Amino acid sequence: MTILGKSVEDMLKERKFSICERCGGKVQYLDSGRYQCTVCDHMVMDDFGKVKAYLEENGPAAAPVIAAATGVSPETINQMLKDGRVEIPEDSEYYVQCEKCGCNIRYGRFCPGCVAELARGMNAMFRMDAGAKPKKEFNQDKGKLHFMDKRRI
Ligand SMILES: [Zn+2]
Ligand SMILES: [Zn+2]
Repeated sequence: MTILGKSVEDMLKERKFSICERCGGKVQYLDSGRYQCTVCDHMVMDDFGKVKAYLEENGPAAAPVIAAATGVSPETINQMLKDGRVEIPEDSEYYVQCEKCGCNIRYGRFCPGCVAELARGMNAMFRMDAGAKPKKEFNQDKGKLHFMDKRRI
């Protein structure tokens, strides 16, 4: 099936979802990375939508597990966590690490403590990278092993 000189496969690869893969109808963005066809109601999800849906359905999971289940690359998942687009739920055994002190945070690049410290001397943009610490501490060694598995870039 080809629309405007592009195959549906190509358009899906670009993850734009402007046109329905099923009927060629117009697709509108709903929320949380989900899109729906205005003609046939077919639902599609981008990488973000897939990861978010997986976490909502299955609860906390390590990036490699999410990657295997959703087909989204671990690098992409890691990037979403750092961007704060996806956050790791409480009670997870897997967290991202603060880039400054290495403590566990549920999303973002720096823990609240380090953000406060960094913000003192730097511009306020750093606040955008602020993460949140889990309420409960967990097994540090286990979490680190998970993290090492997926080769931080
Ligand atoms: Zn459709
Ligand atoms: Zn920190």
